[in-house]
Amino acid sequence: MLIKMKLNKCPECEGEIKEKRISYMLIGIDIGKFPALVCEKCGEQFYEDTTLEKIDEAAKRKGLWGLEHKTKLNVLGNSLAVRLSKNQINFGNLKKGEEVLVYPESKNKYVIEIQGSKT
Ligand SMILES: [Zn+2]
Repeated sequence: MLIKMKLNKCPECEGEIKEKRISYMLIGIDIGKFPALVCEKCGEQFYEDTTLEKIDEAAKRKGLWGLEHKTKLNVLGNSLAVRLSKNQINFGNLKKGEEVLVYPESKNKYVIEIQGSKT
């Protein structure tokens, strides 16, 4: 969430705001500690514009950029195939023939779960 001025109270729950350095997680990866204003009550985190720019830079350095892309479903025999981008393939170190589990979470959200262990 983005802020332009100093916060004293959380806009979500009116809880007390404290300045902290906290680890910023992006797609399950810790990209470093950054200054943030954290609500003591609900845990909501607020970052200043300059901090958000630094977070973006850190994410790019770790190759966590461009992992989202728009694509179309392609016809493959009687099935439909989803194309993954090069960034997405590199991120998960995915290989051709790798086993994945595909299931719908809802009518407009499907999950592709990699079956091999990726640690
Ligand atoms: Zn709050």
